[in-house]
Formats: sequence, C-alpha cells, structure tokens
Amino acid sequence: MIVIGGGLAGLSSAVALADAGFRVRLLERRPFLGGRASSYTLPDGEHVDNCQHVTLGCCTNLDDFYRRVGASRKIGVYDRLVFVDRDGRRSLMQASALPAPLHLAVSLALYPSLVWSERRAIGNAMLAIARRGGRNADGDAAGKSMLDWLRLHDQSESAIRRFWSVVLVSALNEELDRTDARYGLDVFWKAFLANRAGYRLGIPLVPLGELYDGCKAAIESRGGEVQLRASVRCLRVSDERVLGVEIDGGREESADAYVLAVPHDAVLALLPERLIGAQPGFANLRRLRSAPITGVHFWFDRDVMSEPFLTLLDRTTQWIFNKSRLYGGPGDGRYLQLVVSASYDLLPRSRQEIIDLCLAELREVLPEAREAKLLKAVVIKEANATFSPEPGSDRWRPSQRTSLSNFFLAGDWTATGWPATMEGAVRSGYLAAEAILAAVGTPRGFLQPDLPPEGLARWYARRGAL
Ligand SMILES: Cc1cc2nc3c(=O)[nH]c(=O)nc-3n(C[C@H](O)[C@H](O)[C@H](O)COP(=O)(O)OP(=O)(O)OC[C@H]3O[C@@H](n4cnc5c(N)ncnc54)[C@H](O)[C@@H]3O)c2cc1C
Repeated sequence: MIVIGGGLAGLSSAVALADAGFRVRLLERRPFLGGRASSYTLPDGEHVDNCQHVTLGCCTNLDDFYRRVGASRKIGVYDRLVFVDRDGRRSLMQASALPAPLHLAVSLALYPSLVWSERRAIGNAMLAIARRGGRNADGDAAGKSMLDWLRLHDQSESAIRRFWSVVLVSALNEELDRTDARYGLDVFWKAFLANRAGYRLGIPLVPLGELYDGCKAAIESRGGEVQLRASVRCLRVSDERVLGVEIDGGREESADAYVLAVPHDAVLALLPERLIGAQPGFANLRRLRSAPITGVHFWFDRDVMSEPFLTLLDRTTQWIFNKSRLYGGPGDGRYLQLVVSASYDLLPRSRQEIIDLCLAELREVLPEAREAKLLKAVVIKEANATFSPEPGSDRWRPSQRTSLSNFFLAGDWTATGWPATMEGAVRSGYLAAEAILAAVGTPRGFLQPDLPPEGLARWYARRGAL
C-alpha cells in the first residue's frame, strides 16, 4: 500500500492498514509527520506547535488513534472550562450531577456574562437541539446558516456573541453566518448534550510532533516504511487503476493500492486532467473554500498565568493556553499561546500589529502580564487552515472511494459528516482503510461509534430512530 501524506488522515489509514497486516509505504513531503497538527523547530531553535490543537470527549476516533499509537497518556483531560468577559467576570462551564442533556444547565443558569432572559432563551434553544436527538440536517435547519437558525430561535445578538460564537467559531473555524446550521447543531448535540463526557477538553501535554512517535513503529512492525521529504509530483493512472506515483527527483514507486491523504487544495495538482474531467467529484473540490486561523506565541520573563487555559469573550483573542504549565515547566505561565479562529480580520494585518493587539488584550485579562517583560513573540498565520463548513458544503466532499479500483481518498475534507478537525481526519483515514479491506475481500471495521446518548438524550435519540 502507498499512503501519500503524513497528516492525521494519512497516519490513521497507514496505522490501520498496518494493523490489518499490510506493508505500507507512507510518503510525506515535509521532514516531519502530523501535517497541520504538528510542531517544528523555528530558525531560532524554539520548538513550537503549528498552532495549539485541542480535542473533545466526543472525538472517539481520535481517541482510538492516540491509543493505538501509544499517545493517550500525552493528552491532558480537563472538565472545567473558564470563560472571561470584558468586565473580567469569570464563568465556569462544568458538569453538575444532573443527567444528560441537563448536566451543563446549572453552569448555563449561572453564566454571569448574560442577563437572565438571554440564559433562558439559550436553555430553550439547547432543548430544541436535544429534542432533535442528533438529526440535525433537516427540519428548520435545512439549508440555513447557524446564524439564521439562532435568530429563528430568539437568540439576542449578545447571546450569540457571548455564548454561541465562543463555542462554535473555535470548534468549526468559521463565522456563524458562513456555517451550515447542521454543523453547529451537531457540535452542541455531540459535545454538550448527548453524553456527559462529550464536552471534556483534551489538550496535548507535549509538542504535537511527539504524539506521532508510535506511528513509525506501528508501520515498520509490518515491514512498511515512512519516507520523509518524499514529495509526490503526480500519479500515473490508466482508465481503471493507479499505476504508480512519481516522486520529486524522478523516482517512481508502485503498490497494489493507494491512499491520497493531502489537503483538498493539493489534490488536483497531483491528478491527470483526464481523471479530473471524468469525475465531477474531483472538480467540485474547487468549490470548497478555506478559512484562516492565527496563532500567537508569547514568552515572558516571569510567570503571568496560573490557569492551564482560558476562553475569552468580547475580544479578538479567543483562547489563551498556558504552554509552560501544560508541558509541566520550567516556569508556570511564561510561555503562552493565543488562538484566533476564523481570523479573517488579522490576515491583512502586520505581525507587529497582531502582537500589539493580542498583548494589550492579554494584559487586560492577566494582571501579572502588565509588569512582565515580553521576551519574544511569534505569529503564525494559517490562511488556509481548514475548509469552510459553509451551508451546503457537504455536497462538495467526496467519498473515500473513487471510480478507480485501487485508489482511495482520505483527509478532513472527504465525506465524514464531521467538520475539518483532527477527529474528521482520523475518521477519513479509518474509512479509507475500511474501503481498501472491503475491496480486497477482507472487510474489517475501524470506525469507532460516537459516545452513546445518555439519560433523556438517549430517549430523544431513540424517538427519531423508531
Ligand atoms: C492552525 C490550525 C489550528 C487547528 N486547530 C484544531 C484543533 O484545535 N482541533 C482540531 O480537531 N483540529 C484543528 N485543526 C484542524 C486539523 O489540524 C486538521 O483538520 C487535520 O490535522 C487535518 O489532517 P489531514 O491529514 O486531513 O491533513 P494535513 O494535516 O494537511 O495532512 C496532509 C499531509 O500531506 C502532505 N502532503 C501534501 N502534499 C504532498 C505531496 N505532494 N506529497 C507528499 N505529501 C504531501 C502534507 O505535508 C501534510 O503532512 C487546526 C488546523 C489548523 C491549520
């Protein structure tokens, strides 16, 4: 088997195929694994994540993948989320003893950044989501943006800005007027309503690159290999099959089956025009738009933060991660990473403007940072971070199977039902591996089930299934 691309989609398909006994050659263009969810060394010697990545309890396939490659113990799990608003008020999001879908209702009822009528309206909208029982594509959500759906359910501008956007813009990396309501409703159903564990935040306790140490061993244990700095230039294709891949430098390699696991905007350049013309699925990839994320790294001369992370309301900065604390020192808040999802407004701004803006916000939230000296700052703008989950975008996401008998696709952009996330990427990798095993006559399942709906949420989920 040849897998092209060493991001989570390629890695998960390669590890699954190796588990099934296949010899896999994984070809990755860059000198390290992990793709968009990776870390690397800057020219000044500092090792940084491409951007802070987090996972949620409802991401069952990513969880399974980390377990397979021995990375689970490198993920910290947090069940207490702290939101800070412009007035410095802190809200806690934590499960109470109530069963799902009511476990977060107490936190919501006490949410100090909104007035009582807004909290009650949010509760009603959450109940409307719970009643759907996970069937989120139809009814009053069909064809709508998340913003339209929220307005339809009487959410005030302030509730949208101070509650719904805070969760959804980070989870989906898009503004609510450009987000398919189905994706937004899915986030709340899977992470906040269906199961008490769904909202728990998983945060890597090591640089992202260290999560993939076990992948190479898993692939090599079955006689396979990982080739870094192996940039595939094109695929050679007949009418029915892929015949081989051409790698930079002129080398050619061939295999029984191929998984193409590169980002959606890199796919078409590798395929012959003839194939793109013959399969509308490929040409439709041009219709998927991308959305940006900006990460800002700050190093201070002293500790400026004690919490492991904070979520900010009413500001450009959305999250602050205390990297020193997450990594277990040295220092307990000297190295911080800030994240701005759907960062369209920051793209045209200079690096210095972004540093000034984020530093000013940080100093408002963290009093210790006011006196501290900023030693170093790094801004990483990812203009094409993820595909945009626009209304109707699911139409343009191809299946992992193609019309060529030995050619399969993987990537967060393929049809998984999930937005562009690490979970979506792993699902696509598992689905591609399942499709290959079915094609060679030895079907096997890798895909993990969602967390089971509990309590009243289970009743709502079952009601629709009858
Ligand atoms: C800044 C940022 C923050 C994010 N935050 C989160 C988060 O907090 N939580 C979350 O769940 N998701 C997050 N995501 C999304 C997540 O990173 C992606 O959805 C996921 O990593 C995509 O994996 P992938 O394997 O599909 O693609 P990629 O990771 O892009 O992997 C594709 C690989 O293919 C390689 N490649 C490309 N062309 C070739 C070629 N010609 N030959 C060989 N190899 C090639 C690339 O080098 C790359 O390694 C974030 C993304 C970004 C950019």
